[in-house]
Amino acid sequence: MARRAAAATTQLILALLRKIKKPLSAYDILSRLADDGIKSPPTVYRALEQLQEKHEVHKLAGLNAFVACDHRHGGKNCDHSHAIGFAICRSCGAVAELAHASLDTALSELSQKSGYQFGDTVIEMYGMCQGCKR
Ligand SMILES: [Zn+2]
Ligand SMILES: [Zn+2]
Ligand SMILES: [Zn+2]
Repeated sequence: MARRAAAATTQLILALLRKIKKPLSAYDILSRLADDGIKSPPTVYRALEQLQEKHEVHKLAGLNAFVACDHRHGGKNCDHSHAIGFAICRSCGAVAELAHASLDTALSELSQKSGYQFGDTVIEMYGMCQGCKR
């Protein structure tokens, strides 16, 4: 019973993040799902951790917020074996998940030069989206 409830919470959070398409803090998620009976912060944090492990959700450290993964490989979930970047609009909050081979190339060059081995890497790029730039 408890396990089923936890799975339902996870699905509700994922559905919410996919619908909103913008980063939400754990607090935003809690307040939006209060009507669905989700009222305990630890439940939300646990669900968010699970979703991150499954590569369904990313955490944006700079905003302390979460966003649904938007990268698909022929209809399949992204496994994030590649580096990803997030373009984040400072004006309207829109977020785009970007992958590019040049990101992986740059990171492996940096890794060689610095001697660091990088794990899951999320690059956050702040600026203006096309709509706000005008
Ligand atoms: Zn992703
Ligand atoms: Zn991908
Ligand atoms: Zn914008």
